[in-house]
Amino acid sequence: MTIRIGVIGTGAIGEDHARRITQTLSGGKIVAVNDVNQDQARAVVDRLGLDAKVYESGHELIQADDVDAVLVCSWGPTHEEFVLAAIEAGKYVFCEKPLATTAEGCLRIVEAEVKAGKRLVQVGFMRRYDKGYQQLKQALDNNEIGAPLMMHCAHRNPTVPDRYVTEMAIVDTAIHELDVLRWLLNDDYKSMQVVYPKGTKNRFEHLADPQILLIETLGGVRIDLEIFVNCQYGYDIQCQVVGESGIASLPEPQSLLMRKDTKLYTNVLVDWKDRFIESYDIELQDFIRGCEQDTVGGPSAWDGYAAAVAADSAVKAQQSGAIESVEMAGRPAFYG
Ligand code: NAP
Repeated sequence: MTIRIGVIGTGAIGEDHARRITQTLSGGKIVAVNDVNQDQARAVVDRLGLDAKVYESGHELIQADDVDAVLVCSWGPTHEEFVLAAIEAGKYVFCEKPLATTAEGCLRIVEAEVKAGKRLVQVGFMRRYDKGYQQLKQALDNNEIGAPLMMHCAHRNPTVPDRYVTEMAIVDTAIHELDVLRWLLNDDYKSMQVVYPKGTKNRFEHLADPQILLIETLGGVRIDLEIFVNCQYGYDIQCQVVGESGIASLPEPQSLLMRKDTKLYTNVLVDWKDRFIESYDIELQDFIRGCEQDTVGGPSAWDGYAAAVAADSAVKAQQSGAIESVEMAGRPAFYG
């Protein structure tokens, strides 16, 4: 069985996902594409040699009889309307983060999916598919270091463009940790606080960089997350869990260890796409498998909502300087 897939938004990640489905993964075929810039959609069809129809609107693509599943890879503010339309049409939908740009929007998607009565939505939080994070999760679930007490995390990018503003440190950057940390701990968040160390000189004036997000979970775990998006030296993701009887750390990406010119060294990655390249493959293969077996799994619409609520609270904390509580709606039984 081949899942016939339509891609809405053929920019950077949309093209990349279309490429992996066509050239790397099995069980899926791109049959439809759409982008506000139709020339770009056509160019992607040509570049990848797709046998796919270019649609004038995302909604037409969703309604097409020969589209079984939809990938929403357009600009964030358009995600909610396309995901809701896919649910309404009874189609599986993989949505890149954010699920919606507001917590209320995410909740509308949650409600629509509950009403539909089956899992149709998978959110593109690919870190859950990273081998290192999975090893960390297994160690915690197997109680190998006792109960987690603290976490020390860092999300560092070499540089960001000048359109990157302070809020994006949360909604674009830390959003991945906001999802993966609650998944690792099987816990939800109680509060968020943001403190600002001395700013680096390697930043645009309008941006506060670095920032430290201080999180408390409902279970009492304390997390410090450094967000440093002009660190210069590379793309570096760190995650260390301090438990009652040991410490577990996210493994470094595999890289050659060199002894040369009186030095012992290994390279640090620079491009975020290289750091999680395998996770993107595995998450989309999981989505295709879910469509085939009628059991879409992975990060759910509820997880998309939880990340959005946490991000809202962290953005409020950026502005207020205070400890802001994280107030979530009751979790529907549908999501287990
Ligand atoms: P991008 O390169 O700007 O691509 C987005 C594309 O969607 C653009 O071609 C844009 O056209 C198009 N678009 C905008 N509104 C549309 C609409 N109403 N209908 C159809 N197409 C529309 O951005 P990107 O980097 O691919 O990011 C896309 C999404 O993926 C974002 O939500 C981003 O946060 C997410 N993302 C996730 C990850 C991850 O690690 N999981 C990584 C990268 C991106 P115009 O350029 O003409 O506006």
